[in-house]
Amino acid sequence: MAGRDGLTYPDSVHTHVDGLHRRVEGKPAEQKKYATLGIETVGDLLAHYPWRYADSREVTDIASLAVGRNVSLVAQVRGAEIKLAQRTGKPRVEAKVTDGTRTLDLVIFMPHRTMAEFHLKRLVPGALGLFSGQINVFNGRLQLANPTYAIFGHEVDEAVALEEAEWPIPIYPATAGLESDKIRKAVRKELDRLTESDVPDPVPGTVRAERHLASRWSALRGVHVPQTEEDWRKGQARLRYEEAFVLQAELARRRAHAQREESTARPARSGGLLDAFDARLPFTLTDGQVVAGDQIAADLARPHPMQRLLQGEVGSGKTVVALRAMLQVVDAGGQAAMLAPTSVLAAQHVRTLRALLGDLAEGGLLGGSEIGTRVALLTGAQNAAERRSNLLEAASGQAGIVVGTHALLSDPVQFADLGLVVIDEQHKFGVEQRGRLQAKAANAPHLLVTTATPIPRTVAMTVFGELEISELRHVPAGRSGVTTHVVPADNRPWMDRTWARVREEVERGGRAFVVCARIDSDDDGADAGPRETDGADLILDEPTTVGEAQAAEGRAPKRPLRAVLEVVETLRHDARLDGVEVGLLHGRMTSEEKDRAIADFSSGRTPVLVSTTVIEVGVDVPAATVMVILDAHVFGLSQLHQLRGRVGRGSAPGLCLLVADAPEGTVAAQRLGALAATTDGFELARVDLELRKEGDVLGSAQSGRRGALRFLRIVSDGAVIDRARDDARAVVDADPELAAWPALRAAIDLQLADGREDFLGQS
Ligand code: ADP
Ligand code: MG
Repeated sequence: MAGRDGLTYPDSVHTHVDGLHRRVEGKPAEQKKYATLGIETVGDLLAHYPWRYADSREVTDIASLAVGRNVSLVAQVRGAEIKLAQRTGKPRVEAKVTDGTRTLDLVIFMPHRTMAEFHLKRLVPGALGLFSGQINVFNGRLQLANPTYAIFGHEVDEAVALEEAEWPIPIYPATAGLESDKIRKAVRKELDRLTESDVPDPVPGTVRAERHLASRWSALRGVHVPQTEEDWRKGQARLRYEEAFVLQAELARRRAHAQREESTARPARSGGLLDAFDARLPFTLTDGQVVAGDQIAADLARPHPMQRLLQGEVGSGKTVVALRAMLQVVDAGGQAAMLAPTSVLAAQHVRTLRALLGDLAEGGLLGGSEIGTRVALLTGAQNAAERRSNLLEAASGQAGIVVGTHALLSDPVQFADLGLVVIDEQHKFGVEQRGRLQAKAANAPHLLVTTATPIPRTVAMTVFGELEISELRHVPAGRSGVTTHVVPADNRPWMDRTWARVREEVERGGRAFVVCARIDSDDDGADAGPRETDGADLILDEPTTVGEAQAAEGRAPKRPLRAVLEVVETLRHDARLDGVEVGLLHGRMTSEEKDRAIADFSSGRTPVLVSTTVIEVGVDVPAATVMVILDAHVFGLSQLHQLRGRVGRGSAPGLCLLVADAPEGTVAAQRLGALAATTDGFELARVDLELRKEGDVLGSAQSGRRGALRFLRIVSDGAVIDRARDDARAVVDADPELAAWPALRAAIDLQLADGREDFLGQS
């Protein structure tokens, strides 16, 4: 900056004051354009990272350019000339660039001839350049009008050449009128003004020293003004670590906070309900269940709240482990609440508990056992009298166990001494909701979260990072498992065979689920039943509605999706199922109707049940052997895995038939193929993550915004996350409030402000 005395002052004198919070430079119109990219301050600008690097070695394929897109392409100049407009006489430069096969027209409009000549000197035949702008069509040919460009290693003007010779050239996410090249220059200018001390580093120096990490400032220089490929790769690696570290630091802080909280210790007691339950269990616990059970029992015995995630394969017996934890707490004099995702599931848990506890679940009743307790159920659909008596049992402490849906969260629900909260079968649960349940306890209750389907470890570590993790990798021995086949919906013989198989299984004493994507024909799939209590699905979950699934698939349905109400009628009159009773289940039925439908199915009165995905989660009918999923192509992978988990739970082998319209090569076909190929839920979870974009893994809040994860790949960066987690825990253990690390605190706040809270809270 030139002062009045003619001397030049370095701008950093000012930036020391304003730092990264200074508004990005430019005219108001330009600032508006920056704002559309989420850039307001210099800090924002420096966090606007290149999405790739152009290199003079890789020429862009011109055939791949789409009209209307903002592009940056590397191409070779064929030739250029100056032309004059007929009426105005204004000059323009017309040039052709080539990728070696095709050519693309360039046109640059200029007010003066001298300026046009400047371009002509740079656009010499043979020169390689990076051209950025919007592709349009003129006279039937692709054209790039008024591009910004840089020529590689072309020595026309020394100053220009010096700058331009530097590659790799960063290419930025751009917008019309604010091309990558403009952004590149603005970033470079800002970086040149800043010094290391202007750029706070969220990673403490101690950690940097130990891990041999560069400073944030040099990482920014590496990604924005690299001299070599190694520069930007190193810069990215450092920023990737930083993202993991900041995230893990917040999780470690939450974990430390919970560990400092006081909770009532609920140690195991022999001769209590848990022992009685175990004695009545019709099976022996798997090794995994024993290990997880021991971990949980130990956590519960400590005077600090347990914070544990129990995750694992569908049907691996997670719910049993959770129920045992609840009984330990009751034995210790406390109450346990279990929050289930659907009323069908809540009712099922209550039935299981009552059946296994027998008279022990009749505490306080005539003839009930002395050590007994009561199991209360709270769902939104109960009538007033039922609800009142259940509320009373919870509040008085008579009910040691209270199972419910979100109705449990409502204000009137009180507990005498809530010691444990179990959140069953979901991999998402807002902090707020968890907080509401926890607020019903005098002392912080212990917390156990179980997931519905397996989650890759790295995802669990990130999304549930403040929780300790127990894992059940195997299903109990003796299950015959499930065989899965994809059945093309338009193949008549295969469909005949499908219904014949259903019939055979029923005649052998089995049961068959027939799952449809919709309830009736006007249903858009939004209320297909399963999500009666769910909010947004953030991880590993599927598009919430069938419509979204189709949109995701990028094509309209060929024919309307089959609906429960129609399919049930068709099957009742279908000669292929003559004499077989067909039941019905969907989310719009009352809970009594639902309970009856499940009971009739279970008992064999209606051995075929046409249902929405209301049965997706947790429904346990061991006699069920066949699962027919109609329109399977609109379901997501983890949902299909869940559904399939409903069969093959008993000693008879299960069969899952995926009736689908999934042309080869579509993502749907890949999903179905993966499902048919393996029953390993961990493997499927991995495939699922690969088939979707990273943004979908952590929810849309994570895509593309500042503070979002830009470099960290949750699925593949397990080693980085591991390291960052160890480092973050050490830093937080030594300084729980991060008092010595203001830059780290600020980085955490920035992440949380940008919606990270959404998924950090999902547990
Ligand atoms: P998850 O919740 O993990 O999907 P559940 O807890 O619902 O699985 O268990 C699935 C089925 O397996 C239930 O019928 C349950 O009673 C049964 N089960 C659980 N543990 C065992 C075991 N160790 N051996 C045999 N069956 C078991
Ligand atoms: Mg379960």
